[in-house]
Amino acid sequence: MQKSRPGATASDLQLATTIFECTKCSSSGTLMYYPQMFYHECCFEDDGINSARLMESRYNLTSSSWSAKSLVLSESSSRVAKAIVQACSLDPATTSIRDLDIANPLIECETCKDASRSGLYSGRLFMRWLSAINDTRHHHTHTLSINNFEGERQQILACEPAGNIFGRLRCVYCHKKQFNYVVNLLNHLRFNHSNILRWDPDECTFPLSLAELWTHCYRDPTVKMAFGQQVFRYKPM
Ligand SMILES: [Zn+2]
Ligand SMILES: [Zn+2]
Ligand SMILES: [Zn+2]
Ligand SMILES: [Zn+2]
Repeated sequence: MQKSRPGATASDLQLATTIFECTKCSSSGTLMYYPQMFYHECCFEDDGINSARLMESRYNLTSSSWSAKSLVLSESSSRVAKAIVQACSLDPATTSIRDLDIANPLIECETCKDASRSGLYSGRLFMRWLSAINDTRHHHTHTLSINNFEGERQQILACEPAGNIFGRLRCVYCHKKQFNYVVNLLNHLRFNHSNILRWDPDECTFPLSLAELWTHCYRDPTVKMAFGQQVFRYKPM
């Protein structure tokens, strides 16, 4: 990263515009945000390493064989992330992944509208930011429209799968389980961590704001970028 951004510091790792690409397995389009690279198998010299070992070595980088050798900054994805951040009226130089998750912009890929005239693939295509910068469908090279849906927003959101923005979550208090749905995470928090949270079980204020919710969980970094985040179609009547 220092190579392409002289003067970059450790806190720049957490910026939404810092997206890495693995040159060893780039044919499959492996893009990563912080701290996913610390779980990426190509970054471990020992080829025989298994995922249990990876989990064990988390954040304990000095004693592991982790290496950033195969990582480069993804110019195209970082550029798209920057455009998304700016469309949210945020500053690319300071906006973290968490900040962008809280802003949670709605994004349309205009290029992918009406992939086919009939059936499932007709209509306008919408997504959240990780899907927009992810490489699998190359939306990062397409024409994107960001947070610009006055008047239609509610109808578009009605087509979005529930819990779409979160992906695979882990609890910040015990890290143990992976949650596919926010409701499961909330139940887990209520039953296991009420001593920390001091939530009154009779009057919890749900839904929590995104800002509040993200203080209790994080995306499982071992899961591929945008996994569990779906793009969705909206067909105006
Ligand atoms: Zn790789
Ligand atoms: Zn691409
Ligand atoms: Zn597209
Ligand atoms: Zn927990």
